[in-house]
Amino acid sequence: MSWSMWLVPPIITSIFFVLGIITLYWSIFTWVTAKVESSSKPYNVKRVQVILGTSCAVISVFALQLIVRDSHLSWTFTNFQLLLLIFVAYFLQLKIPNWLILLAGIGFMLMNGNISAILSWGYTLLFVLFYMFSYQQSTHLWRAPYTRYITVATCFGLALWLFVKFRFHLPWTTYWIEMGDYLVLASLMYGYFKIQDKDRRIKDRLFQSANWDALTHVQNYAAYDRAIGYHFRESVMHNKDLAMVMFDIDHFKRVNDTYGHLAGDEVLKRVASEVANAIKAINPEIILYRTGGEEFNILLPGYDINRTRPVAEAAFDAVKNLKIPYNEETLQVTISVGVSVLNEGDHNPLDFYKRVDANLYHSKQTGRHRITIG
Ligand code: GH3
Ligand code: MG
Ligand code: MG
Repeated sequence: MSWSMWLVPPIITSIFFVLGIITLYWSIFTWVTAKVESSSKPYNVKRVQVILGTSCAVISVFALQLIVRDSHLSWTFTNFQLLLLIFVAYFLQLKIPNWLILLAGIGFMLMNGNISAILSWGYTLLFVLFYMFSYQQSTHLWRAPYTRYITVATCFGLALWLFVKFRFHLPWTTYWIEMGDYLVLASLMYGYFKIQDKDRRIKDRLFQSANWDALTHVQNYAAYDRAIGYHFRESVMHNKDLAMVMFDIDHFKRVNDTYGHLAGDEVLKRVASEVANAIKAINPEIILYRTGGEEFNILLPGYDINRTRPVAEAAFDAVKNLKIPYNEETLQVTISVGVSVLNEGDHNPLDFYKRVDANLYHSKQTGRHRITIG
């Protein structure tokens, strides 16, 4: 037997085809996210996943359809279309406006040369509805997710295949065989995707705990260190502004010594959340980092000294006005702030950091509870 005579049932080929597509997608996804992560650029995993997944799925389905388009066999890859829909709507949770799915459906009908067939229109409209249902299922944490998933897939599959059966005058045996194959593939896809997704979630959690501070829930020193490296390079390369605001709580040791370590922790949490909110009100993209025990840092890419001043003042005022109830007491703290912008003499992030730190030190030396800009 030679390879050209390698006869296997279509369901086997289909299984390997579908799993192959998902594996291809996961491999590219892992490769791209690793690449983006190593460039230190802050990125959105969900966005990367959606763009890649949709491209993989759409390209494979359209490529397949080109082989059979405009022929009496143009129904052959119907199951792949349905699985594509499930993949994008249910697993990638891509929210596409209904009109856009409809438009894609019309494009598909044009490509297949069946735009004038009423049954094809019925199919397309039901397809849009199937998308809406699948998306809704995936975004709600309802109980028995697999049962719900397979029920929705079965109901729409049965109805959609009915349109195909009558449109192409297929015998009932074909209808049921295709339906059976479709359900096997949909179940396999569910299991396979869940396994892969679990791996990703473990990785995400590791990434999360490596970059976020468990006490204050702001980003930590490791995240700051990567961000300053990235922003420093970007600013030098493209000749862009970069500012840094650093602050340290005044006499924090006294809080611990007087009220205990737990009180100190409470102060840290509240200071972090108030300052984070205050700076996010100015620009939601500004990130607060906890870079030390009671030391915090704010990086401002694209900010010159005039734009930076209000950010430093917002952080300063947020703490000044903060009253923290703790047991019977009300705790109040202040901060000392150091501010600077990147200049041409800075050869590396450390040069820049040292100047900001010196300004913070100046605030401490001249009586605390003040901002030093320079
Ligand atoms: P200064 O105004 O000069 O900054 O005085 P300070 O007392 O704030 O400065 P110092 O650096 O001497 O003290 C910082 C204290 O912060 C020491 C350490 O015990 C405390 N600290 C560091 N991390 C934590 C934490 O996670 N929780 C609590 N409760 N305290 C912490
Ligand atoms: Mg301090
Ligand atoms: Mg300190």
